[in-house]
Amino acid sequence: MAKQFSDKCSFCGRQDEDVKILISGKTAYICDECVEQAQQVVRDEISRRYSKNENKKVATKKLTPKEIKAFLDEYVIGQDEAKKVISVAVYNHYKRLGQEKTEDDVEIEKSNILMVGRTGTGKTLIVKSIAKLLHVPFAIVDATVFTEAGYVGEDVESIITRLLQVCNYDVDAAEKGIVFIDEIDKISRKGDNPSLTRDIKEGTQQALLKLIEGTEVMVPPQGGRKHPEQKLIKVDTKNILFICGGSFDGIDKFISKRYNTSVIGFKKGKNEEVVDKENLLEYITHQDVRSFGLIPELLGRLPVLVHLDELDRAALINILTKPKNALIKQYKKLFAIEGITLDFDKDAIEFIVDKALEYKLGARGLRSICEAIVTDAMFELPSKTDVKEYIITEAYAKQKLNKSKLAKLKVA
Ligand code: ADP
Repeated sequence: MAKQFSDKCSFCGRQDEDVKILISGKTAYICDECVEQAQQVVRDEISRRYSKNENKKVATKKLTPKEIKAFLDEYVIGQDEAKKVISVAVYNHYKRLGQEKTEDDVEIEKSNILMVGRTGTGKTLIVKSIAKLLHVPFAIVDATVFTEAGYVGEDVESIITRLLQVCNYDVDAAEKGIVFIDEIDKISRKGDNPSLTRDIKEGTQQALLKLIEGTEVMVPPQGGRKHPEQKLIKVDTKNILFICGGSFDGIDKFISKRYNTSVIGFKKGKNEEVVDKENLLEYITHQDVRSFGLIPELLGRLPVLVHLDELDRAALINILTKPKNALIKQYKKLFAIEGITLDFDKDAIEFIVDKALEYKLGARGLRSICEAIVTDAMFELPSKTDVKEYIITEAYAKQKLNKSKLAKLKVA
């Protein structure tokens, strides 16, 4: 019933002549503007409760390590050992979040992860896929931009600002997120010897240490340096999963030294184990990473250490064709939208992979090589109505690549 009584809104107190519509209830009135406001309040409250439940769902989600690995298998080729270890670590991390406080004083510690592997072997891809599976906020940061507070560069706390930004400043969600710190090897100190002068990089490691272990930090919402008048947001990092990654170029020499074998040679180690010198990373331990230059205190907070294998020819062929969003599948889809069936000959695929290996670009190079090959077709075909099928042969791929800037790449 609208505006029958000469009365006022029970919420804002305005008279019926001052509002457009005054709705009457049994014992009260409400005006059109208050209805709108109430609607907004209801919407906000529902979304707040919903996002809280969502977070709870994440924290207690009952995905087994096998299910996590099966999901990773859809996106990441090879790297079986890494996928398995990381699935267990992630499972334990979220189990720990769901853990009730018990009498026995046993507190499950965080299972932060350190990934060692050449660039382009899938480190970022693994972490991104896990964040996608768990629907948790996820931020990637590069360790090279950080310095100890007081030096030129970013404070390590800016990591948390990034995490807050990706989840619209939902502190609850950010506190259960995942942070990937890439290029952690670039903040290694110069020597294994702690008596050497403490360098800036070591200071950065010290600053990271606390954050990774778990602490309450006050972060400026827009990032940058803190200043006194700025409003800061408090975030507890104890439940954030930190995954660090790096290529640790040259770490082989520490591993081989430990095994008493030479990187070029092929010998039995001290403990009579036959060492596969092609895959020295398989034998990596925390001790080697320490020799490389990460401080023991930081390593202590990264208890899960995994290595990623070098990608061979077969793996690269699979990467091009198999994963859910494999590059070839993406190009086919792009052409299908134009009504064109695109196909790559087997020889063309092998040619692309051989070039990626030759240029030493690994999986990262596959995309630039493919782009160089299909760009002309993507440019021409949309204006042609008579082409319904397009096949990339080896000869076509060679010709297009030879014309591109990539062909000028010097092979090391
Ligand atoms: P990293 O972080 O180790 O330097 P990325 O994960 O960023 O390497 O890999 C770069 C790109 O190469 C990815 O986007 C993906 O397309 C491809 N890639 C690398 N490794 C794999 C893999 N093991 N399986 C599938 N794709 C991969």
